[in-house]
Amino acid sequence: MVVASEPRREFHRVHAASVQDGSIWRGAARQLGLFSGILESTWRRQRLCILCYHGVSIRDEHLWNHHLFISPERFRRRMELLAHLQCSVLGLEDALLRLSQFDLPPRSVVITFDDGFHDFLARAHPLLAEHGFPATVYLTTYYSEHNLPVFRLMCSYLLRLRRGCSAVAQSFAGRTLEIRTATQEDRSTTMALIDQEVDSCRPTAQARQAFLEHLAESLDADLAALSAEKILHLLTPDEARMVSAQGVDVQLHTHRHRTPRDQRLFAREVLDNRASIRAATGTTPHHFCYPSGVHHAEFPTWLRNLGVASATTCESGLCTPGTDPLLLPRYLDQEAFSDLEFESWVTGAAAIACAPLSFV
Ligand SMILES: [Zn+2]
Repeated sequence: MVVASEPRREFHRVHAASVQDGSIWRGAARQLGLFSGILESTWRRQRLCILCYHGVSIRDEHLWNHHLFISPERFRRRMELLAHLQCSVLGLEDALLRLSQFDLPPRSVVITFDDGFHDFLARAHPLLAEHGFPATVYLTTYYSEHNLPVFRLMCSYLLRLRRGCSAVAQSFAGRTLEIRTATQEDRSTTMALIDQEVDSCRPTAQARQAFLEHLAESLDADLAALSAEKILHLLTPDEARMVSAQGVDVQLHTHRHRTPRDQRLFAREVLDNRASIRAATGTTPHHFCYPSGVHHAEFPTWLRNLGVASATTCESGLCTPGTDPLLLPRYLDQEAFSDLEFESWVTGAAAIACAPLSFV
């Protein structure tokens, strides 16, 4: 436990007065110099901020799904902010070792990407390289090996791309599906129908791709052009090998992006994923990220038995030396978040604002 210092008490007073509007307390806290005070504190130095991204848009994916995708302009701005704040951007392995040894440098940050979209190579990697920032990519390998668009995401993207169109499509079992796209509710209903068909028919990757092509044709969408740009594709094994050779840390995210509650099936997901990454990169991954952030009480033990050293969640917060390395919190950055919100995570102000006063 750390005794509350005066800047932190002042921060809590500001926070309590403006809790109704996050932007007000963050703005006031920064104006008062509390962001920089916290960033330079011993308290922050004993903590690690892990940032989580998914995709950086090749076209307009952030307009379709702003939870998963961020625009290149926004991502560039984030990297500039990290540089401006003089953050120590560390590789994951190095950061976790130094966290456990109370040896973190000031303002330490780790940058992670979930899933391993192709746009990491096309968009994020060049921007990271401009600053010399290392990064970890948690690669899910099923679609990587097949070099096909991620089925469910591409279905959803096509529905928004051709919003306003209506069509009829034949499902995997030959059933007729009404494809409605006019409103968000229509698109959600259509996606629910497609999900039902997948659950009942369990189609192969090739059958899913055939349906995608059929859906695109029904909606008069140019799937070939989207695929040529590798939109919603994952890094291929060759691309994973290339980024790994350039220093990117490629780690585990399960083979099929799922975590069954059955221990044998769970282990198979991790082992298939590990074998695929090892075959592609020549390295043996031992850091894990829970797909969709889903984790249960038994998972850390199962992962430990599989030789996994760390696992990241989607819960917000900073890591401390006492954090279970198999339940590491992160901040999930999104297109809609302001610079101020981002700074509040990196400085540690958000973690303090969310903590009871007795803990700061
Ligand atoms: Zn994921």
